[in-house]
Amino acid sequence: MKTVKDLKVKGLVVFVRCDFNVPLKDGAIRDDNRIVAALPTIKDLMAKGAKVVLMSHLGKVDHKDPEKCEADKKKNNMAPVATRLAELLGTKVVFCPATHGEELATCVKGLKEGEVMLMQNTRYEKGESKNDPALAKEWAALADAYVMDAFGSAHRAHASTYGIPEVLKAEGKQTAIGYLVEKEVNALKRVVDVKEDARPYVAILGGFKVSDKIKVIERLIEKCDKVLIGGAMAYTFAKALGNQIGTSPFEEDQLEFAKSCYEKANGKIVLPVDCVVANDFDNPTEIKVTEDNNIPEGFMGMDVGPKTRALYVSEIKKAKTLFWNGPVGVFEKEEFVEGTVAVCKACAELKDAFTCIGGGDSAAAVKQFGYKDQFSHVSTGGGASLEMIENDGHLPGIDVIGE
Ligand code: ADP
Ligand code: MG
Repeated sequence: MKTVKDLKVKGLVVFVRCDFNVPLKDGAIRDDNRIVAALPTIKDLMAKGAKVVLMSHLGKVDHKDPEKCEADKKKNNMAPVATRLAELLGTKVVFCPATHGEELATCVKGLKEGEVMLMQNTRYEKGESKNDPALAKEWAALADAYVMDAFGSAHRAHASTYGIPEVLKAEGKQTAIGYLVEKEVNALKRVVDVKEDARPYVAILGGFKVSDKIKVIERLIEKCDKVLIGGAMAYTFAKALGNQIGTSPFEEDQLEFAKSCYEKANGKIVLPVDCVVANDFDNPTEIKVTEDNNIPEGFMGMDVGPKTRALYVSEIKKAKTLFWNGPVGVFEKEEFVEGTVAVCKACAELKDAFTCIGGGDSAAAVKQFGYKDQFSHVSTGGGASLEMIENDGHLPGIDVIGE
């Protein structure tokens, strides 16, 4: 696959789709990780003498309700990103407040070699999320080349992630992936297509909803040697298998799926064997550990219990390849972190294994508990990494770049 390294772009306008969807609070950036992660590609293009035009979405903009639309635009203004980016690069970054028309064209045409411009939030445009061909054409007309470096958006075929490179490719212009996407693709390949000598392949799946992750569960059962299921989604499986789950959350319409999935997995799925339960989610005044995978009336599961932690650890220890998505307990609450911490620790202690995390909350958990650096790869894209597994290594925003 062509990467930014292969491009010859001196004097050319290069549109770069970045992932600057940073958490904002009152207009201030709370975490600039995503901006930092985009720097290698930007610096490389600057050094090559390109005229660098950066674009990204930021939050959501509701185009149906005019009042909400204005409020969303105000909240998700990209300007603070330009300021932070300029500090990180140590150079001027032109901020273009327009996303179309004369003003955008003038900003782009005013760039000199090695200069950087950031466009306002792509979602200010109604046509962005619909991959509107007219919008993609207008943007593509301003570009001589395109680089995809927004891994977290590569599973979406939008105008900025799909429409522009599609037009440019048809015109014979250069398209490539950036360094961030290259790193993600190389890492995720190792959990998509696992060779015999990289087995056992163990996956840990947690988090809240089964319905969010149906496709990935099915794929992982095919690909893995063991799939450890924890988190709230374990209660749907437990109920489907005839266990008592008390007041734990479960998905009625997923019971059938959970049962057939468990049977099809033929022993590959490992469910909790005990639970940490509480009488209330928000104000737990009574917390206890169950004997087995049954939860008494009036209690809900909040974390996996000590026997399950030991079982997980023994399975994780065998892994040569490991993929983890979704915390196995309500790790945001101090009383229920132990299951997730045990998983972190067991993964961190693996030697010579490839360990990969996909998922926003799971990534936040390993960071919070201090284990981030001990994983081989922590993906910057939650949804994108899951879709990559579901679709056997394919994502629209990466496939469109081509060979
Ligand atoms: P990721 O972002 O890593 O893909 P999810 O968004 O699917 O993960 O799930 C994370 C959420 O799941 C967390 O907020 C966590 O509190 C919740 N969760 C995990 N275990 C439980 C449980 N037993 N009961 C309720 N919520 C849970
Ligand atoms: Mg999440």
